[in-house]
Amino acid sequence: MIIIGGGPAGFTAALYTARANLSPLVIEGFNWGGQLMITSDVENYPGYADGVLGPAMMADFRRQAERFGAEFVTDDVTRVDLSERPFRVYVGDDEYRAEAVIVASGASARQIGLPSEQTLQGRGVSYCATCDGAFFRDKVVVVVGGGDSAMEEATFLTRFASKVVIVHRREEFRASPIMVDRARANEKIEFALNAVVEEVLGEGDGHVTGVRLRDTVTGETSDLPADGLFVAIGHDPNTALFLDWLDHDEQGYLVPEPGSTRTNIAGVFAAGDVQDHVYRQAVTAAGSGTMAALDAQRFLEEQRHHPGVVATPA
Ligand SMILES: Cc1cc2nc3c(=O)[nH]c(=O)nc-3n(C[C@H](O)[C@H](O)[C@H](O)COP(=O)(O)OP(=O)(O)OC[C@H]3O[C@@H](n4cnc5c(N)ncnc54)[C@H](O)[C@@H]3O)c2cc1C
Repeated sequence: MIIIGGGPAGFTAALYTARANLSPLVIEGFNWGGQLMITSDVENYPGYADGVLGPAMMADFRRQAERFGAEFVTDDVTRVDLSERPFRVYVGDDEYRAEAVIVASGASARQIGLPSEQTLQGRGVSYCATCDGAFFRDKVVVVVGGGDSAMEEATFLTRFASKVVIVHRREEFRASPIMVDRARANEKIEFALNAVVEEVLGEGDGHVTGVRLRDTVTGETSDLPADGLFVAIGHDPNTALFLDWLDHDEQGYLVPEPGSTRTNIAGVFAAGDVQDHVYRQAVTAAGSGTMAALDAQRFLEEQRHHPGVVATPA
């Protein structure tokens, strides 16, 4: 049993498969822990009544799987061969083989790409309004982006923030007109169009104090005071290795059978954000990690009774 990815989905799948005596090997990625490693407080994971720091929570997940015998390789998978069982998973020149594979390699929030953005991640810079919006009660926040998710996140943030400024590089939006109209009609939302964030400003305790904007038409810069910056320019699923093998949508998200984690290759399962561009929460990722573990367990049990089914590439 190989699990690819060490985020909430992968570690939960590891916990379940380890407790089912399937000896999981988690190839957890060089950046184990996943997306929660770049956040601070997580307040919506059930069971942590007082909240928990993202990295501490992921260390807890990992330790719990380890307690039942899961083993870990802290490196990135570089290639897979899913043409037949046992499946082959490579980390550089090292080859690992497994009768079943769970793909839980997650997704990455797109970043603007500024050093100051990196420094202030989890300290005012966020990539998830559902997760962090409540930390910005009565504060001013900036949302970067011009698509549906930027409009949705901005509208959601008005539940907490006193003011939301949408910064977008053009005058036209990729977002659907109804989403733009809804944002325009919201009196807490303002727009800074033809503008890009050139720097995230922070001082004192290292929290965001504003953003420096550059006008894309005139080239002029100006500082906009703000307490938070939500970057809403999309996510990329970490699926490049699997696209030749597994069914996926046009954005590269894996598409398992509805209501299950089974992919088009028998014995390969997909869990977490790698197959979810809708919910994208730690608890839903962990839930689908559980589903994948149970699906894999059933699959391996069936193989013991009906061996010899050969996998076929997509
Ligand atoms: C800033 C931020 C704050 C958030 N806050 C919250 C919150 O408060 N509450 C909440 O519920 N959700 C929150 N989320 C969402 C949550 O983090 C994700 O929904 C969740 O982490 C998805 O889990 P996952 O296991 O599917 O993937 P990920 O967390 O993305 O983990 C994927 C793992 O796979 C590894 N990987 C990738 N490629 C490879 C490879 N080739 N080989 C091996 N490993 C690989 C990565 O290194 C990583 O360890 C937040 C997200 C962000 C970005």
